[in-house]
Amino acid sequence: MANNQVVSASQLRPLFDFQVNGFGGVDFQRDDLTAERLRQAVDALRRHGTVRIFATLITDEIERLCARLDRFERLCEADAVVHDMIAGYHLEGPWLSPEPGFRGAHPPGPMHAPLFDEFERLQAAARGRIRLVTLAPEWPGSDAFIRRVCSSGVHVSLGHTDANDGQIDAAIAAGARFCTHLGNGTPLLLPRHNNVVQRLLARDELIACLIPDGLHLPPFVLRNFFRAKPDGNVLFTTDAMAGAGAPPGRYTLGELDAEVSSDGVARPVGGTGFAGSALTPDEGVRRVARYLSLTLEEAAAGWARSAEIFGINLTANPAILSHTSR
Ligand SMILES: [Zn+2]
Repeated sequence: MANNQVVSASQLRPLFDFQVNGFGGVDFQRDDLTAERLRQAVDALRRHGTVRIFATLITDEIERLCARLDRFERLCEADAVVHDMIAGYHLEGPWLSPEPGFRGAHPPGPMHAPLFDEFERLQAAARGRIRLVTLAPEWPGSDAFIRRVCSSGVHVSLGHTDANDGQIDAAIAAGARFCTHLGNGTPLLLPRHNNVVQRLLARDELIACLIPDGLHLPPFVLRNFFRAKPDGNVLFTTDAMAGAGAPPGRYTLGELDAEVSSDGVARPVGGTGFAGSALTPDEGVRRVARYLSLTLEEAAAGWARSAEIFGINLTANPAILSHTSR
Protein backbone atom coordinates (compact mmCIF):
# COMPACT_ATOMS: atom_id res chain seq x y z
CA MET A 1 0.00 0.00 0.00
CA ALA A 2 1.13 3.48 -0.77
CA ASN A 3 -0.59 5.02 2.26
CA ASN A 4 1.53 7.37 4.30
CA GLN A 5 4.32 7.43 1.75
CA VAL A 6 5.94 10.83 1.70
CA VAL A 7 7.62 11.42 -1.61
CA SER A 8 8.74 14.69 -3.09
CA ALA A 9 7.89 15.62 -6.64
CA SER A 10 11.49 15.14 -7.72
CA GLN A 11 11.34 11.45 -6.81
CA LEU A 12 8.51 10.82 -9.25
CA ARG A 13 9.08 10.61 -12.97
CA PRO A 14 8.58 13.92 -14.80
CA LEU A 15 4.86 14.52 -15.19
CA PHE A 16 2.60 15.55 -18.06
CA ASP A 17 -0.96 16.86 -17.70
CA PHE A 18 -3.30 17.31 -20.65
CA GLN A 19 -5.94 19.45 -18.89
CA VAL A 20 -4.57 22.50 -17.07
CA ASN A 21 -6.78 25.63 -17.01
CA GLY A 22 -4.43 27.60 -14.81
CA PHE A 23 -1.92 27.05 -12.02
CA GLY A 24 0.04 28.75 -9.26
CA GLY A 25 -2.50 31.58 -8.88
CA VAL A 26 -2.65 32.24 -12.66
CA ASP A 27 -5.81 31.79 -14.77
CA PHE A 28 -4.98 30.80 -18.37
CA GLN A 29 -8.37 32.14 -19.53
CA ARG A 30 -7.52 35.78 -18.92
CA ASP A 31 -7.18 38.22 -21.81
CA ASP A 32 -4.56 40.16 -19.87
CA LEU A 33 -2.24 37.19 -19.26
CA THR A 34 1.30 38.60 -19.11
CA ALA A 35 4.68 36.97 -19.71
CA GLU A 36 5.44 37.30 -15.98
CA ARG A 37 2.18 35.69 -14.89
CA LEU A 38 2.49 32.80 -17.33
CA ARG A 39 6.07 32.22 -16.22
CA GLN A 40 4.82 32.21 -12.60
CA ALA A 41 2.40 29.38 -13.49
CA VAL A 42 5.10 27.44 -15.35
CA ASP A 43 7.57 27.76 -12.48
CA ALA A 44 4.88 26.53 -10.06
CA LEU A 45 4.14 23.54 -12.32
CA ARG A 46 7.85 22.69 -12.36
CA ARG A 47 7.97 22.81 -8.58
CA HIS A 48 5.22 20.18 -8.69
CA GLY A 49 7.24 17.83 -10.86
CA THR A 50 5.43 18.76 -14.08
CA VAL A 51 7.45 19.29 -17.26
CA ARG A 52 4.81 19.41 -20.03
CA ILE A 53 1.13 20.39 -20.20
CA PHE A 54 -1.63 21.03 -22.67
CA ALA A 55 -2.80 24.50 -21.66
CA THR A 56 -6.57 24.24 -21.61
CA LEU A 57 -8.97 26.92 -22.79
CA ILE A 58 -12.63 26.61 -21.87
CA THR A 59 -15.79 27.83 -23.62
CA ASP A 60 -15.82 31.38 -24.94
CA GLU A 61 -16.54 33.23 -28.17
CA ILE A 62 -14.36 32.01 -31.05
CA GLU A 63 -12.71 35.40 -31.58
CA ARG A 64 -11.70 35.63 -27.93
CA LEU A 65 -10.33 32.08 -27.99
CA CYS A 66 -8.32 32.89 -31.13
CA ALA A 67 -6.89 35.97 -29.43
CA ARG A 68 -5.96 33.94 -26.34
CA LEU A 69 -4.27 31.21 -28.36
CA ASP A 70 -2.35 33.83 -30.33
CA ARG A 71 -1.25 35.49 -27.09
CA PHE A 72 -0.13 32.13 -25.67
CA GLU A 73 1.94 31.47 -28.79
CA ARG A 74 3.59 34.88 -28.61
CA LEU A 75 4.40 34.32 -24.92
CA CYS A 76 5.86 30.89 -25.80
CA GLU A 77 8.03 32.43 -28.51
CA ALA A 78 9.36 34.98 -26.01
CA ASP A 79 10.28 32.55 -23.22
CA ALA A 80 12.01 29.20 -23.85
CA VAL A 81 10.98 27.88 -20.41
CA VAL A 82 7.31 28.59 -21.11
CA HIS A 83 7.59 27.10 -24.59
CA ASP A 84 9.19 23.97 -23.14
CA MET A 85 6.24 23.51 -20.75
CA ILE A 86 3.38 24.11 -23.18
CA ALA A 87 3.36 21.08 -25.45
CA GLY A 88 0.06 22.13 -27.03
CA TYR A 89 -3.52 23.06 -26.25
CA HIS A 90 -6.64 21.29 -25.11
CA LEU A 91 -9.72 23.10 -26.33
CA GLU A 92 -12.63 22.30 -24.01
CA GLY A 93 -15.54 24.11 -25.65
CA PRO A 94 -17.40 25.93 -27.04
CA TRP A 95 -18.99 22.89 -28.74
CA LEU A 96 -20.39 21.45 -25.48
CA SER A 97 -23.86 20.81 -24.09
CA PRO A 98 -25.39 24.08 -22.80
CA GLU A 99 -27.87 22.17 -20.63
CA PRO A 100 -27.70 22.92 -16.87
CA GLY A 101 -25.45 20.42 -15.12
CA PHE A 102 -23.92 19.13 -18.35
CA ARG A 103 -22.29 22.49 -19.05
CA GLY A 104 -20.58 22.47 -15.64
CA ALA A 105 -18.81 25.76 -14.94
CA HIS A 106 -18.75 26.75 -18.64
CA PRO A 107 -20.80 29.76 -19.80
CA PRO A 108 -23.63 28.50 -22.08
CA GLY A 109 -23.89 31.68 -24.19
CA PRO A 110 -21.07 30.93 -26.67
CA MET A 111 -21.96 27.22 -27.05
CA HIS A 112 -23.08 26.04 -30.49
CA ALA A 113 -22.76 23.25 -33.04
CA PRO A 114 -19.17 22.62 -34.17
CA LEU A 115 -18.02 24.22 -37.42
CA PHE A 116 -14.80 23.11 -39.06
CA ASP A 117 -13.90 26.57 -40.35
CA GLU A 118 -13.98 27.81 -36.75
CA PHE A 119 -11.66 24.99 -35.73
CA GLU A 120 -9.32 25.96 -38.56
CA ARG A 121 -9.23 29.58 -37.37
CA LEU A 122 -8.48 28.46 -33.82
CA GLN A 123 -5.82 26.04 -35.02
CA ALA A 124 -4.18 28.79 -37.10
CA ALA A 125 -4.10 31.09 -34.04
CA ALA A 126 -2.51 28.21 -32.08
CA ARG A 127 0.14 27.73 -34.83
CA GLY A 128 -1.21 24.21 -35.32
CA ARG A 129 -0.68 23.25 -31.67
CA ILE A 130 -4.26 22.36 -30.61
CA ARG A 131 -3.80 18.68 -29.82
CA LEU A 132 -7.07 17.74 -28.13
CA VAL A 133 -10.67 18.92 -28.52
CA THR A 134 -13.46 18.10 -26.05
CA LEU A 135 -16.97 18.31 -27.49
CA ALA A 136 -20.54 17.07 -27.02
CA PRO A 137 -21.40 14.83 -30.00
CA GLU A 138 -25.15 15.47 -29.79
CA TRP A 139 -24.70 18.71 -31.77
CA PRO A 140 -25.76 18.34 -35.41
CA GLY A 141 -22.81 17.82 -37.73
CA SER A 142 -20.59 16.42 -34.98
CA ASP A 143 -19.57 13.23 -36.76
CA ALA A 144 -18.38 15.06 -39.90
CA PHE A 145 -16.58 17.58 -37.68
CA ILE A 146 -14.90 14.85 -35.61
CA ARG A 147 -13.81 13.05 -38.78
CA ARG A 148 -12.13 16.19 -40.16
CA VAL A 149 -10.51 17.15 -36.85
CA CYS A 150 -9.16 13.62 -36.37
CA SER A 151 -7.83 13.43 -39.91
CA SER A 152 -5.92 16.66 -39.22
CA GLY A 153 -4.07 14.73 -36.49
CA VAL A 154 -5.94 16.18 -33.50
CA HIS A 155 -7.56 13.98 -30.84
CA VAL A 156 -11.23 14.25 -29.95
CA SER A 157 -12.71 13.57 -26.54
CA LEU A 158 -16.38 13.46 -25.50
CA GLY A 159 -17.33 15.58 -22.50
CA HIS A 160 -19.95 17.93 -21.06
CA THR A 161 -22.39 15.79 -23.02
CA ASP A 162 -25.69 13.98 -22.74
CA ALA A 163 -25.17 11.97 -25.94
CA ASN A 164 -27.37 8.96 -26.60
CA ASP A 165 -26.01 5.61 -27.75
CA GLY A 166 -26.42 6.40 -31.45
CA GLN A 167 -24.55 9.69 -31.08
CA ILE A 168 -21.75 7.94 -29.17
CA ASP A 169 -21.59 5.25 -31.89
CA ALA A 170 -21.26 7.92 -34.57
CA ALA A 171 -18.59 9.81 -32.62
CA ILE A 172 -16.50 6.66 -32.11
CA ALA A 173 -16.87 5.71 -35.78
CA ALA A 174 -15.69 9.22 -36.69
CA GLY A 175 -12.55 8.86 -34.55
CA ALA A 176 -13.33 10.08 -31.01
CA ARG A 177 -11.12 8.19 -28.57
CA PHE A 178 -11.55 9.72 -25.13
CA CYS A 179 -14.09 10.78 -22.47
CA THR A 180 -13.16 14.02 -20.71
CA HIS A 181 -13.35 13.84 -16.89
CA LEU A 182 -15.79 10.90 -16.96
CA GLY A 183 -18.34 11.19 -14.14
CA ASN A 184 -18.12 14.98 -14.08
CA GLY A 185 -19.70 17.58 -16.34
CA THR A 186 -23.11 16.07 -15.60
CA PRO A 187 -26.01 17.10 -13.33
CA LEU A 188 -25.73 15.89 -9.73
CA LEU A 189 -28.84 13.73 -10.20
CA LEU A 190 -29.26 11.38 -13.18
CA PRO A 191 -31.47 8.38 -14.02
CA ARG A 192 -29.89 5.54 -12.08
CA HIS A 193 -29.01 3.32 -15.09
CA ASN A 194 -29.70 4.99 -18.39
CA ASN A 195 -27.36 7.95 -18.08
CA VAL A 196 -24.43 9.27 -20.08
CA VAL A 197 -21.84 8.23 -17.48
CA GLN A 198 -22.87 4.57 -17.82
CA ARG A 199 -23.21 4.86 -21.60
CA LEU A 200 -19.65 6.19 -21.94
CA LEU A 201 -18.16 3.90 -19.30
CA ALA A 202 -19.43 0.86 -21.20
CA ARG A 203 -17.48 1.73 -24.37
CA ASP A 204 -14.17 -0.10 -24.46
CA GLU A 205 -13.22 2.00 -27.50
CA LEU A 206 -13.13 5.14 -25.33
CA ILE A 207 -10.27 5.91 -22.97
CA ALA A 208 -11.64 7.36 -19.72
CA CYS A 209 -9.95 10.51 -18.42
CA LEU A 210 -10.40 10.79 -14.65
CA ILE A 211 -9.68 13.45 -12.02
CA PRO A 212 -8.26 11.52 -9.04
CA ASP A 213 -8.56 14.23 -6.37
CA GLY A 214 -11.05 12.19 -4.34
CA LEU A 215 -13.57 15.04 -4.73
CA HIS A 216 -14.63 15.00 -8.38
CA LEU A 217 -15.03 11.24 -8.00
CA PRO A 218 -15.35 9.67 -4.56
CA PRO A 219 -12.50 7.13 -4.24
CA PHE A 220 -14.94 4.19 -4.58
CA VAL A 221 -16.21 5.58 -7.91
CA LEU A 222 -12.62 6.06 -9.10
CA ARG A 223 -11.99 2.40 -8.26
CA ASN A 224 -15.13 1.25 -10.08
CA PHE A 225 -14.33 3.27 -13.21
CA PHE A 226 -10.70 2.10 -13.18
CA ARG A 227 -11.79 -1.55 -12.92
CA ALA A 228 -14.49 -1.18 -15.57
CA LYS A 229 -12.06 -0.11 -18.28
CA PRO A 230 -9.78 -2.46 -20.23
CA ASP A 231 -6.18 -2.35 -19.00
CA GLY A 232 -4.52 0.93 -19.84
CA ASN A 233 -7.72 2.66 -21.00
CA VAL A 234 -7.69 5.16 -18.15
CA LEU A 235 -5.80 8.45 -18.13
CA PHE A 236 -5.42 10.78 -15.18
CA THR A 237 -5.50 14.56 -15.19
CA THR A 238 -5.84 17.33 -12.64
CA ASP A 239 -8.19 19.69 -14.58
CA ALA A 240 -6.28 22.23 -12.48
CA MET A 241 -7.44 25.84 -12.22
CA ALA A 242 -5.57 28.91 -10.95
CA GLY A 243 -5.89 27.83 -7.32
CA ALA A 244 -3.85 24.66 -7.85
CA GLY A 245 -0.33 25.06 -6.49
CA ALA A 246 -1.47 28.21 -4.67
CA PRO A 247 -2.98 28.97 -1.25
CA PRO A 248 -6.76 28.70 -0.63
CA GLY A 249 -8.63 31.85 -1.68
CA ARG A 250 -10.44 33.61 -4.50
CA TYR A 251 -9.47 32.94 -8.13
CA THR A 252 -11.10 33.15 -11.54
CA LEU A 253 -11.84 30.56 -14.21
CA GLY A 254 -12.54 32.78 -17.18
CA GLU A 255 -15.65 34.83 -16.41
CA LEU A 256 -16.35 32.78 -13.30
CA ASP A 257 -15.32 33.82 -9.79
CA ALA A 258 -14.17 30.72 -7.97
CA GLU A 259 -13.07 29.97 -4.47
CA VAL A 260 -10.68 27.30 -3.25
CA SER A 261 -11.48 26.30 0.32
CA SER A 262 -8.96 25.08 2.87
CA ASP A 263 -9.98 21.47 2.10
CA GLY A 264 -8.89 21.98 -1.53
CA VAL A 265 -12.29 22.19 -3.23
CA ALA A 266 -12.57 24.69 -6.13
CA ARG A 267 -16.16 25.97 -6.40
CA PRO A 268 -17.94 28.82 -8.17
CA VAL A 269 -18.43 31.59 -5.59
CA GLY A 270 -21.94 31.21 -4.19
CA GLY A 271 -22.61 28.20 -6.42
CA THR A 272 -22.51 24.44 -6.40
CA GLY A 273 -20.47 21.98 -8.43
CA PHE A 274 -16.80 22.34 -9.21
CA ALA A 275 -14.80 25.04 -10.98
CA GLY A 276 -11.89 22.84 -12.02
CA SER A 277 -9.70 21.39 -9.30
CA ALA A 278 -6.93 22.54 -6.97
CA LEU A 279 -5.09 19.26 -7.45
CA THR A 280 -1.41 19.36 -8.42
CA PRO A 281 -0.07 16.58 -10.69
CA ASP A 282 2.41 15.23 -8.11
CA GLU A 283 -0.34 15.05 -5.49
CA GLY A 284 -2.54 13.45 -8.16
CA VAL A 285 -0.06 10.58 -8.49
CA ARG A 286 -0.05 10.10 -4.71
CA ARG A 287 -3.87 10.00 -4.64
CA VAL A 288 -4.01 7.52 -7.54
CA ALA A 289 -1.72 5.28 -5.48
CA ARG A 290 -3.77 5.74 -2.31
CA TYR A 291 -7.25 5.35 -3.82
CA LEU A 292 -6.41 2.46 -6.17
CA SER A 293 -4.10 0.64 -3.73
CA LEU A 294 -1.16 0.89 -6.11
CA THR A 295 2.48 1.49 -5.35
CA LEU A 296 3.70 4.98 -6.09
CA GLU A 297 5.70 3.57 -9.00
CA GLU A 298 2.58 1.92 -10.45
CA ALA A 299 0.60 5.13 -10.01
CA ALA A 300 3.34 7.17 -11.69
CA ALA A 301 3.39 4.69 -14.58
CA GLY A 302 -0.40 5.01 -14.85
CA TRP A 303 -0.13 8.80 -14.89
CA ALA A 304 2.60 8.59 -17.57
CA ARG A 305 0.23 6.78 -19.91
CA SER A 306 -1.18 10.10 -21.15
CA ALA A 307 2.26 11.22 -22.35
CA GLU A 308 2.59 7.93 -24.27
CA ILE A 309 -0.86 8.28 -25.83
CA PHE A 310 -0.32 11.90 -26.89
CA GLY A 311 3.28 11.30 -27.94
CA ILE A 312 4.76 13.76 -25.44
CA ASN A 313 8.49 13.53 -24.82
CA LEU A 314 9.19 14.04 -21.11
CA THR A 315 12.96 14.25 -21.29
CA ALA A 316 14.26 17.41 -19.72
CA ASN A 317 15.66 19.96 -22.10
CA PRO A 318 19.19 20.71 -20.77
CA ALA A 319 18.92 24.30 -21.94
CA ILE A 320 15.86 24.73 -19.74
CA LEU A 321 17.09 22.96 -16.59
CA SER A 322 19.37 25.87 -15.67
CA HIS A 323 16.34 28.21 -15.69
CA THR A 324 14.56 26.34 -12.95
CA SER A 325 13.53 28.75 -10.24
CA ARG A 326 12.78 27.34 -6.82
ZN1 LIG B 1 -14.85 20.22 -18.01
